[in-house]
Amino acid sequence: MQAFEAVQQYFNKAADQLDMADSMRTVLLTPNREVRVQVTVERDNGMVDTFIGFRVQHNSARGPMKGGLRFHHEVDLDEVRALASLMTWKTAVVDIPYGGAKGGIAIRPREFSRVELERVTRKFIDAIHDVIGPDSDIPAPDMGSNAEVMAWIMNQYGKYHGFNPGVVTGKPVELYGLRGREEATGRGVGILTLKLLKRIGKNPIGCTIAVQGFGNVGLHAAKFLREADAKVVAISDVSGAYYDEAGLDIMHAIRYSNLHERSLKGYEGAELITNEELLELDVDVLIPAALGGVISEENAAQVKAPIIIEAANSPVTPAADAILDEKGVHVLPDILANAGGVTASYFEWVQNRQYYNWTLDRVRGELDRVLSQAFESTWELASQHKVSLRTAAFMLGIQRVAKAVTLGGVT
Ligand code: GLU
Repeated sequence: MQAFEAVQQYFNKAADQLDMADSMRTVLLTPNREVRVQVTVERDNGMVDTFIGFRVQHNSARGPMKGGLRFHHEVDLDEVRALASLMTWKTAVVDIPYGGAKGGIAIRPREFSRVELERVTRKFIDAIHDVIGPDSDIPAPDMGSNAEVMAWIMNQYGKYHGFNPGVVTGKPVELYGLRGREEATGRGVGILTLKLLKRIGKNPIGCTIAVQGFGNVGLHAAKFLREADAKVVAISDVSGAYYDEAGLDIMHAIRYSNLHERSLKGYEGAELITNEELLELDVDVLIPAALGGVISEENAAQVKAPIIIEAANSPVTPAADAILDEKGVHVLPDILANAGGVTASYFEWVQNRQYYNWTLDRVRGELDRVLSQAFESTWELASQHKVSLRTAAFMLGIQRVAKAVTLGGVT
C-alpha cells in the first residue's frame, strides 16, 4: 500500500466516526499545492548530479503550513504527500496555529560531503524560495537533515527576501534556534509514554523499553525514559540492535555514538541482535523511532509489547494496526507521539517573531503543558467513542481543521 493511501484509511476511519460529509473529506484530503523541482549540483569530484526535490503544502486552514525536510533516497511524491497530510493533523492535535507541509530530496545524505549537502540545500531553496516564508510555509529538520541545513535555508532564503529567521525552525541555538528544540521530539515521546503508562495504571519505574533508532528522536526518548527510571533494554540503528536484559547504560551509548560518527556499530555494552528481533522483544513498551512501515502484517502478530509509541512517522501499517488493535495493544499514534518536535518549532517561531530568547525551562514547561493537554483530549475522545488512540487523535485533528475550513469559507 502506498503511504498516502495508508493515511487516507486512518483519516476515513475517524471521519466515519464524525459522520463527515464526502465533500469535506475531499477538501481535507486534497493537498493545496505540490511542487516538484530539479536540484542539479556539482559534486566534489567535478561530476554533475541531478536530484528531485519536493515540497507538498497540504493544508493552510489553521495557519502557515509547517513541516520538515527529509533527505532520504526513498523520498517520492507519494511519501511526501502522506507526511505533509500527517503534519496537518499533527499541528491540529496539539492545537498550534499551523497547517501542514513536508519536503524532501531523494538523496543518500551520508554519501555527501558537508559542502555538497550545502550546495543541494541552497539549490533546493533557489527552486522553492517563492513558495515558502514565515507566514506561508516554514520548513524544519526531518530524517537526514539537521540544524546546520536549517541555517543554510535561512541564509539562502534571506538572499531573495531579506533576513527573516522565522522562515525555518530547528536552527542552531547560536543562530536564532531554540534551546531544547533538538531534544524536543524525543523528550515529547518520553513525556507521552509516561502519560500513557500512568493512564493504564503502570509504574514507569523498572518498566522495560525497546527503542528502534538512535537518531535525534530515539536517542532523546531513551535518555528521558532512563532518567525517569524506566529500563531501556534495547536500542538500535542501521548497524543493528543492542540488547541487555538488565538495562543499557544510555549515557554510555550516547557517548559511544558521538565518538563514532553517530553510529552504534561495534558497541560492546550489550548483545547484538537484529532490528527485526528488537521489534519482537518481550518488553512493556516498544518505541519505533526510525523508518516508516517497520511493523507490518508480516510481523505484527509477533510483536509482544502491549504498548507501542510511534516516535517515527507511520511505523505501523494499517494492516498491522488492525492486528494490534485486535490484540488490545495500545498504539500511541505518530500525530500525537512525535508532535513534541513541531510544538517546539512553534516556540522557536514565536521566539523569532519577537526577537526574544526563551529559557530551556520555559521550553520544557510549555512543551509538557501542550502535549499533556493533547494527550488528555485524545484519551477522553477514545474512551467516549470506544475507539483506538489513533482514531481518536485523527478525530481531534481533522475536526479542528474542518472547523477552520468551514469558518474561513470554502469558496
Ligand atoms: N519533521 C518533524 C515532524 O515530522 C518536525 C516538523 C517541524 O518542526 O516543523 O513532525
